Amino acid sequence: MASLGSVPDAPAALAVSRRIGAELVGLRRRLHGIPELGLHLPDTQAVVLEALAGLDLEVTLGTSLSSVVAVLRGRAPVSGERPVVLLRGDMDALPVSEQVDVDYVSQRPGLMHACGHDLHVAALVGAARILHELRDDLVGDVVLMFQPAEEGPGGAEPMIREGLLEAAGRRVDAAYAVHVYSADHPFGTWFGRPGTLMAAADEVLVTVHGLGGHGSAPDRARDPVPVACEIVLAFQTAVTRQFSIWDPVVLTVGRIASGTVNNVIPDDAVIEASLRTFSPEHRAKAHDVVTRVAEGVASAHGLTATVEIGNGYPVTVNDADEHAFARGVLVDLFGADRWADMADPEAGSEDMSFVLEQVPGAYLNVSACAHADHHDAEDNHSPRAAFDDAVVPDIAAALAELALRRTRHLAATD
Ligand SMILES: [Zn+2]
Repeated sequence: MASLGSVPDAPAALAVSRRIGAELVGLRRRLHGIPELGLHLPDTQAVVLEALAGLDLEVTLGTSLSSVVAVLRGRAPVSGERPVVLLRGDMDALPVSEQVDVDYVSQRPGLMHACGHDLHVAALVGAARILHELRDDLVGDVVLMFQPAEEGPGGAEPMIREGLLEAAGRRVDAAYAVHVYSADHPFGTWFGRPGTLMAAADEVLVTVHGLGGHGSAPDRARDPVPVACEIVLAFQTAVTRQFSIWDPVVLTVGRIASGTVNNVIPDDAVIEASLRTFSPEHRAKAHDVVTRVAEGVASAHGLTATVEIGNGYPVTVNDADEHAFARGVLVDLFGADRWADMADPEAGSEDMSFVLEQVPGAYLNVSACAHADHHDAEDNHSPRAAFDDAVVPDIAAALAELALRRTRHLAATD
């Protein structure tokens, strides 16, 4: 692929986003009041459809989840195949009781948009409105992906199964997503990195099968408790001895459980762990190592262990060329002093990774920190995570501009 860095353009998207900015902020605050969890977000979906009404879009609703896929067709002439760019906004909230003092606070006890996905939805609606207004200049088509269940159990994968990547009639060429942060950087700073951006996260469940008995006669039982303890320690040894230190593996046992009282040897013990890896190779290897260590330690003591590893989200990888292109667009729009290169990936995970496994693209972050000093601010997922929605019009403009420029570049290189 040629360099994508330097397609000159007047930032018309920014002008439109500033004009409609107050409406986008209003939309975000309305969504903030009605957080919903998981795959089924009927109220959020209804608000999105209402906000998109009147735009010339081809809308498809999910069947197994409350997704909205909207295709916006550009009107600029295209000589070859029509380029297709995907823009994604996730829509779900978290089971968190909000402790932020704002007048648009969550109206649903125990639920909160604590990861800022309400800002993502408002910004993607904004991008739709900007691109609709500028569609005479849009060389190709844009797929708008309004996605449920990023926080779990995952909405991107079922959306792909339901035809997301072919929604425009042609496969998506490039995909972009933006995530807001409530801390880490001063308000308005964009940040990202090429290559590995976020970890793969898998859940590990080990059951050690022993044989219960009287605490006074362990030789007549098969005690799973010390074996489970040994497995926990052997996991940490395996992580440090079997994997390159330059491609980290994090294995955290968050729960170990067995037994009822002090003088009864229980039948079994369970270990629950979170496994985070930063490459597909180490992810696959870690699955093998965890299984072998648990089964092997149990076997050495005459017991058995069963290991279940729930396949979580894969590693999130930014295509190097797409990242460089996106970084260039953001610096053009907002200035180099609002961009920060990330030195390292993050250990969080993200199901946009399923899209980025199939389509080259870039996932960008932006600070929506509402505190004067970002060092004092609380992170995403905290009940006190506060997001300044003044950043929403910028995200809308960024998404729209990425689509405008990338489609034009694709058409030019077709
Ligand atoms: Zn999030």
